[in-house]
Amino acid sequence: MQTNLTDFIKNSPDGQEAEAILRACVHCGFCLATCPTYQLLDDELDSPRGRIYLMKQMLEGQPVTQKTQLHLDRCLTCLACETVCPSGVRYGRLLDIGRGIIDKQVKRSAGADAMRYALRRTLPHSGIFASLLKLGRLVRPLLPGRLKHSVPSAARDPGILPSARHARTMLILDGCVQPLLAPNINTATARVLDKLGISLVRVENAGCCGAISYHLNAQREGLDYMRRNVDAWWPYVSDKVDGNAAHGVEAIVMTASGCGVTVKEYGHLLQHDPAYAEKAAHISALARDISEILDAEIGAGASPLCSSTLDTRESKLSFHSPCTLQHGMQIRGVVEKILLAAGFELTVVPDAHLCCGSAGTYSILQPELSQQLLKNKLTALESGNPAQIVTANIGCLTHLQSGTLLPVKHWIEVLDERLLYYDR
Ligand code: SF4
Ligand code: SF4
Repeated sequence: MQTNLTDFIKNSPDGQEAEAILRACVHCGFCLATCPTYQLLDDELDSPRGRIYLMKQMLEGQPVTQKTQLHLDRCLTCLACETVCPSGVRYGRLLDIGRGIIDKQVKRSAGADAMRYALRRTLPHSGIFASLLKLGRLVRPLLPGRLKHSVPSAARDPGILPSARHARTMLILDGCVQPLLAPNINTATARVLDKLGISLVRVENAGCCGAISYHLNAQREGLDYMRRNVDAWWPYVSDKVDGNAAHGVEAIVMTASGCGVTVKEYGHLLQHDPAYAEKAAHISALARDISEILDAEIGAGASPLCSSTLDTRESKLSFHSPCTLQHGMQIRGVVEKILLAAGFELTVVPDAHLCCGSAGTYSILQPELSQQLLKNKLTALESGNPAQIVTANIGCLTHLQSGTLLPVKHWIEVLDERLLYYDR
C-alpha cells in the first residue's frame, strides 16, 4: 500500500513503524472473514482492512471524527486478523499507534473519559479493586440481571503453597486482578511446578503488566508500569547483574495470557528508552506462558503430568483458547496437548479462533458487542456437553463465568486437582 505520512508523525519512531506496517498490507481482504466485529456488524469499516484504511487516512493528515474513533474503539485487539494475514501485517501495533493519535485529536464525551479514567485508577491497583469487589459482592443480590452476573462470586480456596525449596527457580507474575478474583490459579501453578522440582518466587513490588493503561491509550502510564516490573524483577535475573548465570531464574512464568503477551512485548515497547531497552528485551526473552513451561517439561520426560490410567471424574472439558494465547503469543494446541496427556477428554469447539468478547476492558466499554460474542462463545463451548470449561486468562474466565452455570476454571487448576487427587 502506497503511503504519504503527514509531517507531524513521518519522522517519529511510531510514524516509521506505522508506515512499514501500512506498506505491508496488500488489501487482499483475507482478514475480513475471521474478524468478529465484521461478522457481527457487516461493515467494512469494522473490519481489519477498513480500520487500516481509516488509520492510513489519519496518518496522512486527513480529518478524523468520532466516527473514526468509534470504529477503532470497536476493535477487540483480538489479533485474529494477524494470524490469517499472508503478508504479516502487524495490525495490533498499528492500532496501538493509531489509537494513541486519534485520542489526541478527537475528544470523547466527559462520561466516556471518566469511565476510562476510573478503569485505569481501579483495575491495576489491588487495594482499590479489592474494596470495590467486596462492595460489589455485598450488594450483588440487589443488582438487576446482567449487572448481578458481572460481579464475580467468591473466589475458590487457594489451598496450600508448597514448602520445599528447589534448586530450579522461576519468577511468577501475580498481576493485578487475578490474585483477588482467582488466587487459586497461581497456587495451583506452584503446586504443579513443585512436582517437577521447580520453586516459584513472587516479587512483592511487581504488579500490573501495564496492558490496561496501555490499551486505554494512557500509553506513558502503561510504559511506567512496565518499567516498574523490569526494576522489580531485575535483581532476580542475576546473570545479567553479577555475571553468574547460575544465580538467575530460569523464566518468568505467566498464568494470564493477557499479561504474558504484554510482558513478551516489553522489549519492543521500551526499545527507544536507553535506560530500559536492554533490560526489557532480556525480561521479554525470559517470559513464558505456563503452557510453554509444562510443554517443555513433558518433552523432557516429566512423567508426573502424564497418565494413561486416570479416572474420568469431571474429565470432559471444553477449552477456550484466549486470543492473547492463540493469536497474540501464537501458542496453539499446546494446552490441549498437555490436558490430553494428563488424561482429560476435550470437546470439539466450533469457531475456536473467535474472541469471547472479554478483551481487557472491552466488556465494559462495548457491552452490546461483548455480550453477543459471549453468547456465541458459550453456545460453542457448551455444544459438546462438557463437565467444565477451562481457559488460560483471568479476563476470559470471569467473562465466561458470568454467562454460564458450568464451572469455568484456568486449565492449570484442573491439572492441579487431578494431581492432588492422585496423591491421596
Ligand atoms: S489480510 Fe493482511 S494484507 Fe490482506 S487486507 Fe488484511 S491486513 Fe491487509
Ligand atoms: S484485532 Fe480482532 S476485532 Fe480487531 S480488526 Fe483484527 S480481527 Fe477484527
